[in-house]
Amino acid sequence: MNIAVYPGTFDPFTNGHRDLVQRAASNIFDKVYICVAENSRKDTLFSLDERIELAKRSLSEIENIEVIGFNGLLVDFAKELKAKVILRGLRVVSDFEYEFQMSSMNKKLNNGIESIFLTPSESYAFLSSSLVKEIAELGGDVSEFVSKEVKEAIQRKYK
Ligand code: ADP
Repeated sequence: MNIAVYPGTFDPFTNGHRDLVQRAASNIFDKVYICVAENSRKDTLFSLDERIELAKRSLSEIENIEVIGFNGLLVDFAKELKAKVILRGLRVVSDFEYEFQMSSMNKKLNNGIESIFLTPSESYAFLSSSLVKEIAELGGDVSEFVSKEVKEAIQRKYK
């Protein structure tokens, strides 16, 4: 079995995340675990449970995936799940430095797990969770960028 973990904060899950998962799960891996990080360095708008629930709802029709929360070292969690690959997205050049640093460190921590990067479809290249939150907070329409469930959840937060 060719298993990948796709870790992130997912605050909240966007169509860009979905695009990546969809392509990874249908074309490349037998199973993709979407791993929602609890101990993020970021202050999150949504709680861990909310972020997990919204990711699940945004991915309901994809079969060979599972959404789970995690806390602790990603490489240890990946090993537990028997995943050999850490999947990440690279949107723009500015993503590179951080991703390069992370993948180098993860390799150091566990040399048996490889990081693989996918680039998003063109229409999602500019999309980020933080931008979606900013637009929604200012009263803009985010329907194009997130699932209906996520859109409603954000609206409730900013009401
Ligand atoms: P993190 O806090 O770990 O960066 P994010 O939820 O922001 O978590 O992102 C998780 C992963 O998804 C990262 O690898 C990020 O580059 C990728 N990603 C985020 N948005 C997009 C997008 N629009 N297209 C492709 N990849 C994306």
